[in-house]
Amino acid sequence: MSLAICPGSFDPITLGHLDIISRSAQIFDNVIVCIMFNSNKTKPMFAISERVEMVKKVVERFPNVRVDTSDGLLAEYAKQFDGAVIVKGLRAASDFEYEFQMNHINKKINPELETMFLTANEKYTFLSSSVVREVASYGADLTGFVPREIVDEIEEKAKLWRQK
Ligand code: ADP
Repeated sequence: MSLAICPGSFDPITLGHLDIISRSAQIFDNVIVCIMFNSNKTKPMFAISERVEMVKKVVERFPNVRVDTSDGLLAEYAKQFDGAVIVKGLRAASDFEYEFQMNHINKKINPELETMFLTANEKYTFLSSSVVREVASYGADLTGFVPREIVDEIEEKAKLWRQK
């Protein structure tokens, strides 16, 4: 059985992420969406438990997709799944440079591990979690940026942030 791991911080999950996850779910038998705690990303908008709940709500429609978390290195995490492939989305040249470097680091830690890249859907090449956080902080409508099921939750959170 083929297995894809779609990693990311998903703070929050966007339509761009969902596009990569749904395409992976068509190509692979099973998909794990792994929410990584990234030490470089300061001050997350959502706690890990909130991100897990949001991603679960959104991927519920795919029977072969499940959600997991990891606070370690992706290359180490992947070792527990024989033959798993990392699937990542590529938006622009800037993504490529970073991913190219990460791929080499992952190979050093786990030489068996392969990474595959899906080019971003052109509708979502502009989209990132940080863009969503920025737009949300101004109280703008998030429809078209994030999955419908979680629009209200993110707008609520952004409202609380603005009141701080
Ligand atoms: P972001 O870059 O939005 O903060 P993550 O760190 O959670 O998000 O990214 C996880 C993965 O999702 C990465 O492989 C990234 O390239 C991919 N990704 C993020 N946004 C998009 C998008 N709009 N289209 C395609 N892939 C994306």
